[in-house]
Amino acid sequence: MSERERPEGSQDAAAGEGPGLDFIREAVTQDLAQGRYSYVRTRFPPEPNGWLHIGHTKAFLIDFGVAADFKGRCNLRFDDTNPEKEDMSYVEAIKRDVAWLGCDWGGQELFASDYYEALYELALKLIRKGVAYVDDLSEEEMKEYRGTNVPDKNNITYTPPGRNSPWRDRSVEENLDLFARMRAGEFPDGAKTLRAKIDMAHPNLLMRDPTMYRIRREPHYRTGTKWCIYPMYDFQHPLSDAMEEVTHSLCSLEYEIHRPLYDWFIREAEVFPTRQIEFSRLNITHTVLSKRWLLRLVKDGCVKGWDDPRMPTLAGLRRRGYTPESIRDFISRIGIAKTDSMVDIQLLEHCLREDLNKRANRVMSVLKPVKLVIENWPAGHVEELEAVNNPEDPTAGTRRIPFTGELYIERDDFQEIPPPKYFRLFPGNSVRLRYGYIVTCTGFTKDPATGEITEVRCTYDPATKGGDAQDNRKVKGTIHWVSAAGAVPLEARLYDHLFLAERPMDVPEGVDWLTTINTASEEVLSGAFGEPSLAASKAGDRYQFERLGYFACDPDTTPGKPVFNRAVSLRDSWAKIEKKGG
Ligand code: ATP
Ligand code: MG
Repeated sequence: MSERERPEGSQDAAAGEGPGLDFIREAVTQDLAQGRYSYVRTRFPPEPNGWLHIGHTKAFLIDFGVAADFKGRCNLRFDDTNPEKEDMSYVEAIKRDVAWLGCDWGGQELFASDYYEALYELALKLIRKGVAYVDDLSEEEMKEYRGTNVPDKNNITYTPPGRNSPWRDRSVEENLDLFARMRAGEFPDGAKTLRAKIDMAHPNLLMRDPTMYRIRREPHYRTGTKWCIYPMYDFQHPLSDAMEEVTHSLCSLEYEIHRPLYDWFIREAEVFPTRQIEFSRLNITHTVLSKRWLLRLVKDGCVKGWDDPRMPTLAGLRRRGYTPESIRDFISRIGIAKTDSMVDIQLLEHCLREDLNKRANRVMSVLKPVKLVIENWPAGHVEELEAVNNPEDPTAGTRRIPFTGELYIERDDFQEIPPPKYFRLFPGNSVRLRYGYIVTCTGFTKDPATGEITEVRCTYDPATKGGDAQDNRKVKGTIHWVSAAGAVPLEARLYDHLFLAERPMDVPEGVDWLTTINTASEEVLSGAFGEPSLAASKAGDRYQFERLGYFACDPDTTPGKPVFNRAVSLRDSWAKIEKKGG
């Protein structure tokens, strides 16, 4: 890990690992010690407008982890106040993914849309206090009145004061009347808004009379056509937190600038004083982490769906073969930190490799097969060889695999003319067949038209059976194989980064980031073969295919034809980076 990526604080972002020393847990500890709160309650507030990605995972492992460490509770609340984009299917996907990582929200999910009536009441309260008003300015005009950041003559950004809306000083009575009529549907979409009356000269543009409600005739997936006004995020979010008596509202850094407004609404509405604390957003190389961008990948057909194994969504990672444990490990290693960072995707892959090394059984599969014929093998003879399921886990036991005179080996494991330092099969050379015998290449057949090798021939030495005491012949190469008789036809899907660039969003002006997608990020090998034990594979099963990587059985599997996704290759470049960089 380079210095730039080194996180501050502790590694204890994951739930239930005991309080660490990161700045969030420190702040919470202090709040309890000083009597600011007598308990801890957090919430994870996804908007149901997309599936969760690994960035959200950081957020909710912090939310659930902090609650668990302080024996509190974490609510799962859907912040669903944008009727255009939200949907019940997203709610279901989010629940499934949060549960997959082992987080428990107590069985009762909450919805901001259940608070519409209560939020409306709080809006009335603010109007009565004289700190909210109905405005007739259009969205465009409001923007113009608000003003913007500009560079001064020394190129330093400053923010000249904005202008008050001509409707700012309406009486409380008029505002109450107009707001009730907004709700009753008397005005067209966009004709009026309810705004907080704060300060049109505030240096923070968000504090310049932010919008609280807009008129939007759009059916909502939960409230239907009951409402034609919808609360804005900055108004809804703090007050929803407060209604749930959440003590700590933990969120990513982009909300830091919203905090004064968060506190303003809590103070003016005179509700439970939730405290907002921000942490760094997770970014990962070679991918994008924002629902908006992921939605585009899905909509434009760049991937097969939200759960495409190349997607950084939890559903995609799961389908790819990631375990919840490896994802938790990754999140705990990156720490919490107060400044945004870019994390190398190889760290995520490293965490998966470490986990699967411990738990995945080893099997043999040949992805790009060529036939190997053993000329001196007794005709029709089948020998059962004993293979170790997992050298890292003695309790995983052994299995028997058939060895016959016709096998499949990888095309790559034979060369007609070997390059330097090539220790696998070539005419005259010997290799060991994993768990079996040493064979010596005697010849091959080549398709004269295509130049493709169609068969490799060899002889075996009966005295060299793997593990036998009399076997003291040494060869430099060992290759894997599958007996042609009994081989299970399978499809293997190999994946590469979705984007070749480390930071896909850093494109020159005018270039659409989507055009930089790696069009070769999926390679489908439909003529692969696996050993007989793979015949019964079910979606979600994970294996190490010896010499090839870790693979997970895909839901596209059909009876007799398993489909496997390569979750991660065996080569761990991260370990090297760590060693070198320290
Ligand atoms: P996106 O940009 O992906 O649409 P969002 O913030 O709009 O994310 P929400 O559903 O509003 O999505 O997010 C729920 C929570 O997840 C928020 O508290 C947000 O702070 C957090 N979150 C979202 N993305 C990340 C990330 N990359 N790293 C850390 N936390 C994140
Ligand atoms: Mg958001």
